Parts: sequence; structure tokens; C-alpha cells
Amino acid sequence: MLKGHCLCQGVQYEYQGEIDEVAMCHCHQCKQAQGTPFATNAPVQLSAFHIVQGQALLKSYFASPNKRRVFCSNCASPLFSQRMDMPEVIRLRLGTVKEGHIPAPAYEIFCDSRSPWLETNVDRPCYPANKP
Ligand SMILES: [Zn+2]
Ligand SMILES: [Zn+2]
Repeated sequence: MLKGHCLCQGVQYEYQGEIDEVAMCHCHQCKQAQGTPFATNAPVQLSAFHIVQGQALLKSYFASPNKRRVFCSNCASPLFSQRMDMPEVIRLRLGTVKEGHIPAPAYEIFCDSRSPWLETNVDRPCYPANKP
């Protein structure tokens, strides 16, 4: 069980499940969307993910036609992304989790666009694009 919220705490969520696959994404869209050199996220089942407060604050942005990025319209916290062809699995932005266990990242993706000033001393897989 996981609990989290956005920066202003207007949006509160719970996940009745476990996080088992953490990825760091270095793609250009994630950088611009998060304002950081990478995003850290994990797939979660939409059926077990519940917005317990602040549903009306959620706003979506489609950076590509197939994927929406969902954020709090009050404080702009990125919360999750959702692919329209796979809507039952969302990718939760793990920085917003406040309670519950999160394992270390398993791999990194879109390492071709990894920010060159970011230190590299990891021994997890770093895939050039998406996970093969
Ligand atoms: Zn907020
Ligand atoms: Zn990305």
C-alpha cells in the first residue's frame, strides 16, 4: 500500500499494491515536464490506484497524441502518465509518494539523451531508448 500527494496536497492518492519496477527516464519530454534531468516512475495498475481527494484539480497535457501527462492544476506537481492504448497501466511519478516501500531503480531508459552533466556511476542497465 502506497500513499502520496502533490505539492499543495490538494490531490491525495492511494495505491493498493506494491511497486516492483522502478525506472529512470532521461527522455526530452520527461525533462521538460519535470524540470529535472530525469523522471523516476513505476507502472501501477489503474484499478488499484485511487484519487482519494482532489480529482477536480487533475489536468492533462498531451505532449504526444498517445500519452497524457497528469498533473495538479493548482501546484503543477506531475503525478502520473497514461498511454491511451494501454490505459489500465499508469506510470506513477515516485517523487510524490509519501508512504510505502519503493525499491531502487531497476534500469534507466532514453540514456541517449541523458544530461551530460549528470554523474554516471551506476551499474544498472541504461538503455539508449525504451526498454527493449
Ligand atoms: Zn497540488
Ligand atoms: Zn520519459
